[in-house]
Amino acid sequence: MNNYNKLQPEKVFSFFRQISQIPHGSGNTAQIAQFCLDFAAERGLKAVKDAGDNVIIYAPGTAGYENSDPIIIQGHMDMVCEKTADCNKDMEKEGLDLRTDGEWLWAEGTTLGGDDGIALAYMFALLDSDDIPHPPLECVITRDEETGMFGAELFEAENVKGKKILNIDSEEEGILTVSCAGGITAHCEFELNKRYICPFYTYEITVSGLRGGHSGVDIGKGRLNAFEMLSKPLAHISKPCYFGTITGGGKHNVIPQTASIVFGCDEDILDHLEQVVRFCNEKHLGGEAEPDLLFSVKEICADQTVKFQENTIYFLYIYDFLRFLPTGVQSMSESIEGMVETSLNMGVLEANGMDLSCDFLIRSNTDSGKDAVVETVRSFCESIGDEIDFNGMTLSAEYPAWEYRKDSPLRDLMVTVYKDMFGKEPFVAGIHAGLECGIFSKKIKDADAVSFGPDIENIHTPKERLNIASAERTWEFLKEILRRSK
Ligand SMILES: [Zn+2]
Repeated sequence: MNNYNKLQPEKVFSFFRQISQIPHGSGNTAQIAQFCLDFAAERGLKAVKDAGDNVIIYAPGTAGYENSDPIIIQGHMDMVCEKTADCNKDMEKEGLDLRTDGEWLWAEGTTLGGDDGIALAYMFALLDSDDIPHPPLECVITRDEETGMFGAELFEAENVKGKKILNIDSEEEGILTVSCAGGITAHCEFELNKRYICPFYTYEITVSGLRGGHSGVDIGKGRLNAFEMLSKPLAHISKPCYFGTITGGGKHNVIPQTASIVFGCDEDILDHLEQVVRFCNEKHLGGEAEPDLLFSVKEICADQTVKFQENTIYFLYIYDFLRFLPTGVQSMSESIEGMVETSLNMGVLEANGMDLSCDFLIRSNTDSGKDAVVETVRSFCESIGDEIDFNGMTLSAEYPAWEYRKDSPLRDLMVTVYKDMFGKEPFVAGIHAGLECGIFSKKIKDADAVSFGPDIENIHTPKERLNIASAERTWEFLKEILRRSK
């Protein structure tokens, strides 16, 4: 901590420390919002708090920039509060214990809040200076991004005039993000025929060893869905079976790593099932992306709560359901190389002999892609078979995509500045997950946005750390963008 005062840029890290001393976890942002308002008042800058409890601070353009187009600089005031098991800090009430070795900055035992405190520190350092040339600035500091972008959702666009948005909420230097995915959750319900039997023999087949991961950013990495993988051994079962239950997964935004199906049979087929499972394991169906995929089977004693469908035909329908499940990558972007454009993840499936329900989280970097997949899911559900009643689909938690702009003067400027400063091309990318830019690009007509930021590792964990040199380069980059925005 002693060498904290030596960190450069001094003003940026000085404000970062002030921010870190104010508890500002999501849902606990009144104090940090007031700090932003006081900061503005002390410097005679106009500021407002809007209906979403976002704070907007305005600064006029400096000499020669008075009539330039205003630029919006945007970040979120809340942070994710996580701490190590042995940390006693009350993050609702206490500030963070910053530590640095001169190369990295972290907080002892807790998240650092570099995401997105560094954005605020940059804004304050800019607004506090009188020697940095810049056009009129509209600094938009949003509330509760991390828990659902609640501030951005209520943002009132009439409070800003700017069209160019610098979103400082990315964690990899050298990447300019220019598109993000929108999303929607589709909850689907089915009803099975209510006639049951108690089979003589019951078995459980389990899929395990999958890597799982975030259903947006990891979906393009060849990760398999455990529910879908259940269909592989089922394909080889040649005896009539009765459907019991399916369990596994559990979070709609996580690719399911494990899943199990319980089913019954009138005869003892354990040997047959063991052969099937061995066959599936020998085929290495996971390939290189999922080397640890493992199928296993065991005979179980089903308890009274497990209801088995009388009709073995249901077993085949369940098999079809898993086999034809739309899940994973649906299309890749044509504008941004290597980016998944549209995907869906079935992370939640609850099925017993009576009912079946599942949740699909659909993502797309275009709004039309999202709508198309909603229809794919609907027709999949309708086609499952006349024996299973589809009771409908409920859509919720929708947020808009930030679509790629073919023509983006801001992106062009930033690419040029980056090349001039660092002698190499920045990587222009999109992410297959949500960012507040999605909401802003809908609310602000003709918005031209780019998201960037310094290197921050392990965000949302107590291992979060900010690279000092990267923060300094990003600061110089930001100032140069503003200087060239006359
Ligand atoms: Zn963030």
